[in-house]
Amino acid sequence: MRWWLTLIALLMLNACIPHGPSPQRPPRRLPPSPVAQAPSAQETLQCHVDLARLGVQFRVLPDQYFSGGCSALGAVQLVDIGVPVTNLRAMTCPLARQFARWAREAVQPAAGQWLGTRVARIETFGTYSCRTVDSQPGARLSEHGRANAVDVSGFVLGDGRHITVLQGWNGEDERVRRFLRAVHQAGCRRFAIGLSPDSDSYHYNHMHFDMGRGPYCH
Ligand SMILES: [Zn+2]
Repeated sequence: MRWWLTLIALLMLNACIPHGPSPQRPPRRLPPSPVAQAPSAQETLQCHVDLARLGVQFRVLPDQYFSGGCSALGAVQLVDIGVPVTNLRAMTCPLARQFARWAREAVQPAAGQWLGTRVARIETFGTYSCRTVDSQPGARLSEHGRANAVDVSGFVLGDGRHITVLQGWNGEDERVRRFLRAVHQAGCRRFAIGLSPDSDSYHYNHMHFDMGRGPYCH
């Protein structure tokens, strides 16, 4: 009789084991590592409000994950910040907010003070770029790979002059040197990190600003 009881027990146990696919669970779709942290909806909304208050025109971009751990989360496309800017693409909203403030509160006053004119165009090498720090193999992901950095390369002035970081940073014209250092210092106060030709040889022709882990200014 014992074999019969054992059979019953086994059949009952079997009935308790779920068959086929396990109970419904949402599919796990993980972005590639290292995982970038998306800003909270509240942070993003506040940033949009701040941009609107600054009178900035912008477009909200969808969150995007790319290969190599790169991403553009909570990003915007700046359309009009009051001065034309070249090569601006996806920027995290906090970066865009500080960039708009920097252009208005620092670049224009510094141009008036040191160069006696306005800046008619800010030139950049761009924002989003999926690469490692200084494009060095094995280095950690650059803030550019998170759309969280911008490289400023030059300025076109209202009087037609063209100032580049490459020629002006250590150039002959003292007023240009002072202007460039003034906007770099002002950038350091607004962004988490500010780099310049004084930082290292990788930055010989631009100022790098990002909203990564700072503060660091050189
Ligand atoms: Zn850079």
